[in-house]
Amino acid sequence: KKKVAIMTSGGDSPGMNGVVRACVRMAIHMGCDAYCIYEGYEGLVRGGDLIRKMEWHDVRGWLSEGGTLIGTARCMAFYERAGRLTAAKNMILNGIDALIICGGDGSLTGADRFRAEWPSLLEELVSTGVFKADQIAPYQHLNIVGLVGSIDNDLSGTDATIGCYSALARICYCIDLIEATASSHSRAFVIEVMGRHCGWLALMAGVATGADFIFIPEKPREDNWKEEMCGIVHQHRKLGKRKTIVIIAEGALDREGNKITPEMVKDLLADKDGLGLDTRITTLGHVQRGGTAVAYDRMLATLQGVEAVKAVLEATPETPTCFIAINENKIIRKPLVQAVQDTKEVAKAIQRQDFDLAMSLRDTEFTE
Ligand code: ATP
Repeated sequence: KKKVAIMTSGGDSPGMNGVVRACVRMAIHMGCDAYCIYEGYEGLVRGGDLIRKMEWHDVRGWLSEGGTLIGTARCMAFYERAGRLTAAKNMILNGIDALIICGGDGSLTGADRFRAEWPSLLEELVSTGVFKADQIAPYQHLNIVGLVGSIDNDLSGTDATIGCYSALARICYCIDLIEATASSHSRAFVIEVMGRHCGWLALMAGVATGADFIFIPEKPREDNWKEEMCGIVHQHRKLGKRKTIVIIAEGALDREGNKITPEMVKDLLADKDGLGLDTRITTLGHVQRGGTAVAYDRMLATLQGVEAVKAVLEATPETPTCFIAINENKIIRKPLVQAVQDTKEVAKAIQRQDFDLAMSLRDTEFTE
């Protein structure tokens, strides 16, 4: 019986449990044994009871659970060949040579490296006497498929990563709450959202809540950003708006590559010689990641989980390592390495549409 393992790795994202549920049940449906690797690559390296066989009922109710119930971790050992050698040993001890990984670009890059190295890891396990040649004979090729679990929507080649719409929904919900109190006191709020390298969450939250101004890493602000922001906020206030919302991604930058911080924005809005607004900072932090997945992420997790099991069973040594994407509402397989490469080169969030126009649907354009 073919054995298929599934693990979650890197930062958690809503929808990961839906992925595990779909993969476990699809693997069983396809006549395979399903395994979960607990604690990400840490589980592969440590082995033992971190590699567990799963039954159909073990994942019952998982669609509506937040986080990842099989745990995730950052694993230093897996960056080293010695760690990957132990991981290979543990996989063979459990009879596993098909692995599905749900994580960010780091986790998927690690997976591709593991797969490329697999034959030489097996050789070493035989030459050092850990296994006999006939023991490893059935495991000559490692098949790996990636699923992109990330709240940042930061992988090129797929329209949405599993978890991004849940995080976006939570941010919008929180901003709605803040707006009510901001209006009451006529205050300004600088809201920091996650996104060290990718501003998708900040940008979409800005569009979805009609924020006054946003800062994202992909669009470093010009030297005159202070005048620009204050000008827009001033205009909104003149039109009678009693609240000011500025959204700032963690990785916001200016043209020189200097960080723009929430404190800098707050000081500017509060400046007595300028706008003089009563200004507060709210860092949304991990509420963006926690909690249950929205319907879209559950649907994506399930459809992509099903496709991942098919892909890992159909892969041949010649097929490049793939990940499961969604493009124009179709679930498809794509080469992994290219997507990771493109992500490094292209700023995803702003390559798509005219978001400037969407943002300008705030009050600014409608002065009588
Ligand atoms: P997030 O989007 O949350 O950052 P990620 O998957 O990109 O998720 P990383 O911390 O980059 O998160 O990677 C998770 C784990 O994957 C690492 O702790 C490490 O064990 C493994 N990993 C990442 N990159 C590599 C690599 N180049 N070689 C081997 N293993 C890697």
